Amino acid sequence: RTLTAAEAEGDERAVEAALRPRTLDEVVGQVRVREQLGLVLEAARRRGRAPDHVLLSGPPGLGKTTLAMIIAAEMGSPLRLTSGPAITHAGDLAAILSGMVEGDVLFVDEIHRMSRPAEEMLYLAMEDFRVDVVIGKGPGATAIPLEIPPFTLVGATTRAGLLPGPLRDRFGFTAHLEFYEPDELELIVRRSADLLGVELAGGGAAEIASRSRGTPRIANRLLRRVRDYAQVRADGVVTQPVARTALDLYEVDSSGLDRLDRAVLDVLCRRFGGGPVGVSTLAVAVGEERETVEEVAEPFLVRSGLLARTPRGRVATPAAWEHLGLPVPAASAW
Ligand code: ADP
Repeated sequence: RTLTAAEAEGDERAVEAALRPRTLDEVVGQVRVREQLGLVLEAARRRGRAPDHVLLSGPPGLGKTTLAMIIAAEMGSPLRLTSGPAITHAGDLAAILSGMVEGDVLFVDEIHRMSRPAEEMLYLAMEDFRVDVVIGKGPGATAIPLEIPPFTLVGATTRAGLLPGPLRDRFGFTAHLEFYEPDELELIVRRSADLLGVELAGGGAAEIASRSRGTPRIANRLLRRVRDYAQVRADGVVTQPVARTALDLYEVDSSGLDRLDRAVLDVLCRRFGGGPVGVSTLAVAVGEERETVEEVAEPFLVRSGLLARTPRGRVATPAAWEHLGLPVPAASAW
C-alpha cells in the first residue's frame, strides 16, 4: 500500500488513520479480546444477524475506535460515528437512529457523557429496536413509536464504571482493553515504521516502545517525532541513541511519563507530602480537569506502581518519590 499525498506530507490525522489495523488479524496484542470478539462476529455472520452490542472500555489510545471500525469492516457494514458529548438531546439520537439501515454499526465514543434523556432512549433502542419520539411539550405531548432496523451499537468509554448499570447491562459483549506490554508496542512501532517508510536500527524500536506509556497511539506519535529528529539532526535512521536523545528533547522520560503524569506526581509529593489527597484537589493543583487526571494520567500511574487509589484519596508510593529523585519520607502515608 502506498501512502496518499496527505499522509506523506505528515498530516497527523491522516497518518493515524493510515496506521490503523484493518482486520482483527492485524491488531497487535489484546489476545483475549481479539479471540472473544472474533467469535462473536463469526457466530453473527453464520446466523446472518447483526452481532450483539459491544462495549469497549479502557484509557485513550488503546484501540477502541480501531476495534469499532474492524467490527463494521468484518461484518461488511458501514460504520456511523458519533460521541456522547455530541448527543445533547434525545432528538439528536433519534435523528441518528432513524437514519440507520439494517446491520449498520453505530459507534458512540465517550458514551458515558451522553445526556440522560438520550441514554434512556438508547436503552429502548438497544433492546427493542424501537424509540419513542416525543412531539410537543406538556400535556399535549405525544410519543410516536418508531421502529429501527436491527443494528449493532459499539460503545466506548474510558471506564465501564462510569456507565449507569442499566446501560452497561444491555451490552451483550464487554471488553476491557489493557495497557500494552513493551514487546507488543515494539511490534506496533515496527509495523508503523514499515508503513511510513522509516528505517529502524539497533534498539530504536524498543526505546520508543519502552517510553510509550503502554499506549499504541503514543507509540505511533513518538515514532513520528523521533523520525523528525532523525531526519533533521541525524542521517534519518532511528537508532537507540537517536530515539533516546529525541525523546529526552520532547520531555518523555525513560518510564514514558509525560508532562501531566509528572506534574501529578510532583504536586502529590512536593505539595501534599505524598497524600492522601482527593483527586479534585490534585486536578486543581495541576490545572487540569478532574476527568483528565482521573481517566488519562491516573490509570498509567497506578499501573506503573507510582500512585495508589485509597478510600481517603490518592497516595504516592515509595517508587514515586524515587522517580522524582526525592528521598522517601519516613512517615509517608503509604
Ligand atoms: P481509542 O479509540 O481507544 O482512543 P484508537 O483506536 O483511536 O484508540 O487507536 C489509536 C491509534 O493506535 C490508532 O491509530 C491505531 O493505529 C493504533 N492502535 C491501537 N490499537 C492498536 C493495536 N492493537 N495494534 C496496532 N495499532 C493499534
